[in-house]
Amino acid sequence: MTSLSHAQALSVAQEAVLLLGRWAGASPSIPTATADSKAVTQAKDLLKWPQDSRSNLEQQVKPLRLLFDDVNLSNGQGSKNHYWPVGYIKDHDSYPPIPYPQPNADDLDPIKPPIQQAIASLQPDEWNNLSLLMLILEKFGSYVSFGEQDNVSLLDLTRTTAAVAAALANQPDAKCLTLIAGDLSGIQKFIYTISSDGALKSLRARSFYLELVTQEVVEQLLSALDLPRTNVIYAGGGNLYLLAPGDEGTIVQNKIAQVRDRFNEWLRKTFQGKIFLALDCLPFATEDVGTPEFAKAWEKATKKLAGQKSRKFQSQISELVKPKPAYEPCRVCYRDDLPLPSLEPLNNQEADSCLACWMCRTMFDLGAKLFKVEAIARSKQSTIKGAQDRLSIGGTFYYLFEEWKTANAIANEDSTLFLVNDWTLEPYRTGNAVPLLLGNYGQRCPESGPDHAQPQFMNAREMAAAAQGIKRVASLRMDVDNLGKIFAKGLGSNQTLPPLAGLSRQMSYFFKVYLNSLAKNRQDNLPAKAKTLSDDSRQNLLFIYAGGDDLFVSGTWNEVVEFAFDIYQSFRAYTGYNTDITLSGGISIDGAKFPLYQAAEASGDSEKAAKNNGRDSLGLFEQVFKWDEWLGSTSPSVADSDARECLKSAEYPPILGIFPLIEQLEKQQIETNYARSFVRSLLATAQMQDQMIKEMENKRKTLIHEKEPKQYIDYYEKEIKHDIRYYLHLPRMAYTLARLPQRVREHPEFAPVRKSLNNPYNAPYFRAIATWLELLNRSQSQSND
Ligand SMILES: [Zn+2]
Repeated sequence: MTSLSHAQALSVAQEAVLLLGRWAGASPSIPTATADSKAVTQAKDLLKWPQDSRSNLEQQVKPLRLLFDDVNLSNGQGSKNHYWPVGYIKDHDSYPPIPYPQPNADDLDPIKPPIQQAIASLQPDEWNNLSLLMLILEKFGSYVSFGEQDNVSLLDLTRTTAAVAAALANQPDAKCLTLIAGDLSGIQKFIYTISSDGALKSLRARSFYLELVTQEVVEQLLSALDLPRTNVIYAGGGNLYLLAPGDEGTIVQNKIAQVRDRFNEWLRKTFQGKIFLALDCLPFATEDVGTPEFAKAWEKATKKLAGQKSRKFQSQISELVKPKPAYEPCRVCYRDDLPLPSLEPLNNQEADSCLACWMCRTMFDLGAKLFKVEAIARSKQSTIKGAQDRLSIGGTFYYLFEEWKTANAIANEDSTLFLVNDWTLEPYRTGNAVPLLLGNYGQRCPESGPDHAQPQFMNAREMAAAAQGIKRVASLRMDVDNLGKIFAKGLGSNQTLPPLAGLSRQMSYFFKVYLNSLAKNRQDNLPAKAKTLSDDSRQNLLFIYAGGDDLFVSGTWNEVVEFAFDIYQSFRAYTGYNTDITLSGGISIDGAKFPLYQAAEASGDSEKAAKNNGRDSLGLFEQVFKWDEWLGSTSPSVADSDARECLKSAEYPPILGIFPLIEQLEKQQIETNYARSFVRSLLATAQMQDQMIKEMENKRKTLIHEKEPKQYIDYYEKEIKHDIRYYLHLPRMAYTLARLPQRVREHPEFAPVRKSLNNPYNAPYFRAIATWLELLNRSQSQSND
């Protein structure tokens, strides 16, 4: 670490750690303390690093105000203010507890002793270890602010100031900087369109592999441009943003183009054109990093990538159009460009295993090993003594290790060591270790037992077997609504580099770090007042992908459904219940043998339907409702506007929504036979209603087609359709309820349930309620139908 750009980043990090230490009462000293270079001074000026910071620490370090409160697209938070609770990420806490914002600021004193301890332990040469210093800031500086912007964390201010200083290192007066944006397209195809045994684990391996591919692009860019890691603004899930020096000639541009072309050459050979790297850069005025103009540069750089994607593989087009012989296809990914001898059995342990290409075999093997990977060494060397499980990515090798200690002992000076979800300072003290955060929770297969040589993830069959009611698995996909808009203009005049970097980090922390915690330790991580259907720890889940702003999770169907509700409630609490920051999701429920790529497609369609329902919605049981309608509430505002308009005169039900009615009906302990016939008749009622509505809809279309008078059409539209939608079920519902045993009917707690089921406000939810109950109460024998 001798280059000028690294030195600038290092000096900013040193100062931040020093300040934090002094503030906490430790008395650290940097062995070679120097005055700020011109580049560092510029960077500090541009990003409003506090001028008198060294002498005025008690005023500068403050509780961190919630940045999400400042996001305003159409509703915003008004004048609501939240603060992050005081805290830090502890050693050995690979799944740290989720912090939830609160209305009042905490006293910061309790975090001083651990900070003192960490900083006092630094050895003189460790002050030159940028990665170690940044980790200290990440552990202790993620949730305190520094300087006048009380919603920007010390960590984010430090890393962006370091990035700007590094980019200005060789030309402190440069008028321009460069923003690099990158995007791997075709990921969905690579991950989800496979068909095979053990697909769940292979899928997981594929998404892990692509995370390393993204990482490799970043590594090559950093090395080509001689930049420190602080210059990575964001990288994950196939997207990346880096800050680079201004480009007076076309030097930066050419270097980026070289990385891109070399990488695409490798991608083409490895994935036959299915995956493509779009990588471009945008020059912008240096001073923009401290103004809202920066968000425009960010948006422009992102848009430039779209152009490249449409000219996909332009530089390799001649290679692609050459006629090629077609061979027997791989049975997993269907590539057909490899001669037969290169196809081998996917699973060596099984006699009738299908023939697969080398990539699919590699992913299958990798899936079996991923349960325990603590460290990954990146090296240019094609062998490292004592290391196994090598992956080749873009001309570099990645070695997987079960324990960081082994990796640390083996990896040499030229290698980078990625430590998975590891917040312990120790392994970062020597070598070139950097953290790699991964949303990687997965339930261990019970058969692989505690002393089994190689622990494995649970497979789809085992997940289905663990289900309540029907033996099925579910796939859940979710992502943040309007993310592009939030980044482009959500922060208004606050849209400078440090808050944007903070927003991006806090958003991706939720998916990469805190979702793991929510999956593993449900009770400790749910927000206060969260609604839950059961107290189950619901751990039978497998994250296929979680990062950036989205996720794909598979698992036992009822646990996945509960997890979806947990995630939504947790995310809303985490973002301060800002109405402009919501999630949409889709769930598909299938048999254990159902092809996963179809399940992925079905949950994707369901998620799309949720987006089309005005976002902030969930698609489940082939129905789509706003989360508020699923979760229910005592406020009439939950019912959709159509219902409110139509049912003005109707009495408001004591219980509204799907979830609370399921919860109540589950609580009533209705005997199995009664429960079954009750659910069946609920379902029949819902179906009859759907059928009638469809008929009326057809009738209305015919009337429009025949150009009947508008009044007549409106009559159908309003009166009849609404009568059917909200009132048609009443007689049948009364009949169904009357057939329940007297014990249940006359129980005082059942009165509000009966009233609610009979209420027109709940009519749109019958089918979802009936389907949910039906799946929960299906007995084992019926499940094999
Ligand atoms: Zn294949």
